[in-house]
Amino acid sequence: MLSVIIPAHNEQDNAPACASAVSRLLDSYNIDYELIFVDDGSEDRTWLRLTQLARSDERIKAISLSRNFGKESAIFAGLENASGDACVVMDCDLQHPPETLIEMYKIWKNSDGVDIVEAKKRSRGKEKTIYRFFANLFYKIMNKVSGLDMSDASDFKLLDRRAVDALLRMPERLTFFRAMSSWVGFNTETVYFDVAERRSGKSDFGAEASVKYAISSITSFTSAPMQIVTVLGAITFLIAMIFGANTLYNKLSGNSAEGFPTVILLQLITSSIIMMSLGLIGYYLAKIYEEIKQRPRYVISEKLNFDEKDNGKER
Ligand code: UDP
Ligand code: MG
Repeated sequence: MLSVIIPAHNEQDNAPACASAVSRLLDSYNIDYELIFVDDGSEDRTWLRLTQLARSDERIKAISLSRNFGKESAIFAGLENASGDACVVMDCDLQHPPETLIEMYKIWKNSDGVDIVEAKKRSRGKEKTIYRFFANLFYKIMNKVSGLDMSDASDFKLLDRRAVDALLRMPERLTFFRAMSSWVGFNTETVYFDVAERRSGKSDFGAEASVKYAISSITSFTSAPMQIVTVLGAITFLIAMIFGANTLYNKLSGNSAEGFPTVILLQLITSSIIMMSLGLIGYYLAKIYEEIKQRPRYVISEKLNFDEKDNGKER
């Protein structure tokens, strides 16, 4: 069976459209499936729509989170409650074309030993150049520091049960699905898709949210940026040696009164480097603090169409 996990935040119009598009397609290919909608604390009528959908079709399951926990948590809520032999994560706004889902399913089904099928963006749809620039920069940094090539990666992935279980065994609270599903390894196949227009409503990831998401994803996945502090320290040490020698020389040759601007510049540069480094370390400290609290990734307030025994199973 195939579990399709669909995180939804304020998708009252998209959710029914997505459900009917996906289920019609899967039905036409005779694929056994369950759709798991995860309502990520929507403020609109998404949950109402989902209850109606769940009532009309028992293969449509719905989970309501107690507040907005973010897409990452919603994905994991879906994965933890999925019972399929393979799970697919896709967006609710139909930007991830359902036809690609079929393509991914066929690859998984027909080739033995493919555990992950990831869909990469062939074209990024109508995205602003500036956004694309920063997205590329982000992926370059991510690639450098983590060794995972995630350019054009998306959250649109099919995972075999083996990969899902491996993913669910990772205990961290601050999750980054895209990177974690690469990290687990396994045989991965790639398909390409064209990002469609958002069906309705507007994206939750504006400029500010995207930058936050990028920083938080990098720091929750790798500690490499902390090494920047060491590098900066080494650079300032080098400068210190040069200026130290210069100062000593001036002192010994008897003309040491000059260099006031140098003092000010050094003061400014070193103190800003120290502050930034402290900030960076503080950021990681905050992450450690968040992790160590061991809070659940999400809290479920309601579940529809899940088996009785599954109810109340929260992690
Ligand atoms: N989403 C979510 N929780 C959030 C933000 C987004 O579950 O806090 C869902 C949203 O409903 C959609 C998917 O994540 O199904 C992608 O969101 P969006 O379309 O806003 O992002 P974009 O496509 O612009 O990257
Ligand atoms: Mg979208």
